[in-house]
Amino acid sequence: MAKCNTTSAHEVARIFNLKTGTALLIRSDRKVLRRNLVSGQWQAFRNIKADVSIEAFIAHRLNDLQGHWVPLRRGMIPSFDSISRMERDGIAEATDGCEHIEPDATCIHGFPAWTDVALRHGLSG
Ligand SMILES: [Zn+2]
Repeated sequence: MAKCNTTSAHEVARIFNLKTGTALLIRSDRKVLRRNLVSGQWQAFRNIKADVSIEAFIAHRLNDLQGHWVPLRRGMIPSFDSISRMERDGIAEATDGCEHIEPDATCIHGFPAWTDVALRHGLSG
C-alpha cells in the first residue's frame, strides 16, 4: 500500500478512466499510484518520466477525449462489496454511473459494468 500524502509529497490529482475503470493518484514527487479495486488501497504504479511535467502528464490524459480520462470524484468507485452485490443480483452499474445493466455488458455509452472491470483487475492483479 502506498500513501496519498507523505511528509515530502502531497496529492496533486486523482484521475479515472471510464473505459478501463483504472483510477490513478498523482503525487508531487512524480509517483503515480493505482487504486486496487479489490482491496481499495492505492498501490505504487509508475513514476512520471523526468522530461514530462506533472501538469502535462495530467493534462495529456484529461484533454484526450478518446482516452476517456476524467477527474476522479468521491463516490465514483463502488466498494468491492457493492460490486460483489451487483454480480450476485445480476444487475450492475457502469463506470460512468449508468444503472441497471447486465454484469458483463456495457452501457449505451460504451462503458463497462463494474463487475466486468473487477474481473479484469482480478485477472491482471
Ligand atoms: Zn453510460
